[in-house]
Amino acid sequence: MTELITAETAGFCFGVTRAIETAEKTAKRLGRVYTLGQLIHNNDVIENLRERGIIPVDSPEEAEGCIIIRSHGVGRAVYDRIAELGLECVDATCPYVARIHKIVDENSRDGSDVLVAGDGSHPEVIGIMGFANGKVRAVSSDIELEELVKSDKNFGAKSLICVAQTTFDVCKWTDLQKKIKKHYTKAKFFDTICRATTDRQAEAARLSKQCDAAVVIGGAHSSNSRKLADICAENCTVFFTENAQQLIREHGEALIRFLSSYKDVKIGITAGASTPAYIIKEVHTIMSEIIKDEAVDAEFAAAIDQMPRVRAYAGNRVKATVVAVNKTEAVVDIGIKQSGYIPAEELSANPNLSPEEIVKVGDVIDCIVTKVNDADGVVYLSKKQVDAQAGMEKIVKAKEENATVNGTVTAVVKGGVIVTSEDGARVFVPASQSGVPRNGKLEDILKKEVGFKVIEVNEGRGRVVGSIKAAEREASDEVKAKFWSELEVGKKFVGEVKSMESYGVFVDLGGVDGMVHLTELTWNRVKHPKEVVSVGDKLEVTVKSFDPEKKRVSLTAKKPEDNPWTKFTNEFAVDDVVKVQVVSITPFGAFAQIIPGVDGLIHISQISRERVNDVSKVLSVGQVVEAKITEIDEEKSRVSLSIKALLDDEPDEDDAE
Ligand code: SF4
Repeated sequence: MTELITAETAGFCFGVTRAIETAEKTAKRLGRVYTLGQLIHNNDVIENLRERGIIPVDSPEEAEGCIIIRSHGVGRAVYDRIAELGLECVDATCPYVARIHKIVDENSRDGSDVLVAGDGSHPEVIGIMGFANGKVRAVSSDIELEELVKSDKNFGAKSLICVAQTTFDVCKWTDLQKKIKKHYTKAKFFDTICRATTDRQAEAARLSKQCDAAVVIGGAHSSNSRKLADICAENCTVFFTENAQQLIREHGEALIRFLSSYKDVKIGITAGASTPAYIIKEVHTIMSEIIKDEAVDAEFAAAIDQMPRVRAYAGNRVKATVVAVNKTEAVVDIGIKQSGYIPAEELSANPNLSPEEIVKVGDVIDCIVTKVNDADGVVYLSKKQVDAQAGMEKIVKAKEENATVNGTVTAVVKGGVIVTSEDGARVFVPASQSGVPRNGKLEDILKKEVGFKVIEVNEGRGRVVGSIKAAEREASDEVKAKFWSELEVGKKFVGEVKSMESYGVFVDLGGVDGMVHLTELTWNRVKHPKEVVSVGDKLEVTVKSFDPEKKRVSLTAKKPEDNPWTKFTNEFAVDDVVKVQVVSITPFGAFAQIIPGVDGLIHISQISRERVNDVSKVLSVGQVVEAKITEIDEEKSRVSLSIKALLDDEPDEDDAE
């Protein structure tokens, strides 16, 4: 007869239980709290906690109000940073870890170096190293120890303090201590592996020796769970899983094959320190069902189909059939007696869509159970979370291909914004990458559709960092390349005046700026661009010339049909007498406006019958005089005027009489 044996030490350890209780109490007090990193390595629990306002963040900068230090602990510098930011710090560091901090701090004050046996990238080890007062190194194997000895001859020369990560393999630590002693004669060792770990590991070793297979339950990133799996693997077949659903999905066939190959097997069940009791219970239930299922010898696929449904529990992924949709929710059937509800905000990451736009009656959709209310017989589900997982796969692909992903800015958070991709993935965009100017407001892009590049993905933690700025830059590069390839003299644009200088204005032609010189703004004479345009005005311009290498475009806003010279030549001819206004005085004569945009020169010799030595003595700017057009130079667009010619024409006073 096949037998199931569950380890007595399986599940939450003292430190994890304490951290979760601390977080729950704090969330109850404040409504919303942040944990520096995930409280425990278990996605089901993390999602459940998130529902209750306990949000994991990667840095103190992302938190607001209160931050909780999880059981892994952190280094001294992190405490300092939290204080600097003025955040309330609730310390849930496991007392076993805090004891190591104290050992490292106090014993390294005399200049002793510190060696930590453990995974140097694990948060607990990083935190421990953060309490050393001098040199500190982490090694997790003999090989790493040898490398350290070779690479740093001075390390540990004076004296060496040696501690181990609380979850380090007990046997490995005993072996490593012997090797350390050989190289470092002044090494001092502290027993720092926690009881919860030693007990679990010892029981896992015992259990796996008496069993044919072991189901080890733990998160993919839980080092203590992985170690339990390694220990069991030395003695029997191991099925490592995060929960019952994953066990069926990923190991279902292998389990059935295993059970059908052996008779009267013993299967052990153990779990890492971050596995909640209800998940252990679910795994136990599903294993019991598999064992007693008479279809074990039947076709694998058929057997899997006949497996009992897992009871609805938070984090469980299920197939749901939509039975009704209204404005606030979708009602679904998940094959159990309780009714399933997907609230509108859990249907899609896009807050602008109504439930009716997302699902329709009869649709079969994948959902995750978010809450079970046994008293009311109601199960709450989320489609959005499943979409987010699928979205994550697309995000990873987008990063590999450097593709731009589209999404909507759905929240402004500390240090940046959250963009929800079209496929439902939540992406953090730091303020510096948001494309909002330094003195601008992040709120201005809230609810806006944006494109972004994926710059960092941590699948395990479900963390994605994006850059709207990078996508904008790339889009702008593409636009610019297209602009230059299509540019030609005479091409017309309507662009916005972006900036103004005394010599002209810069006009946005759609990602590239062109310059309209003061003299090209209007046919009329102006002293400053502000006389005819303002920043922000739309201006119709034509390309006069351009230089793609220097990225320069010269524009004109003058239209040929408005050319005053054409008007002038149509209306006036040599010998016509015109009323003109003096617009400037020069040593050789005065310029006078005939019509707006056409000035004529009254040469100094043509002002009077008398000899004029100083033009300003006889004419002044603004003065209106009569003059005769004496010459029109079509080629140079020049007009010569003469006052004297009119005087010459006047009859002598004697003649008049
Ligand atoms: Fe504390 Fe040990 Fe649990 Fe780690 S495994 S949190 S050290 S009780």
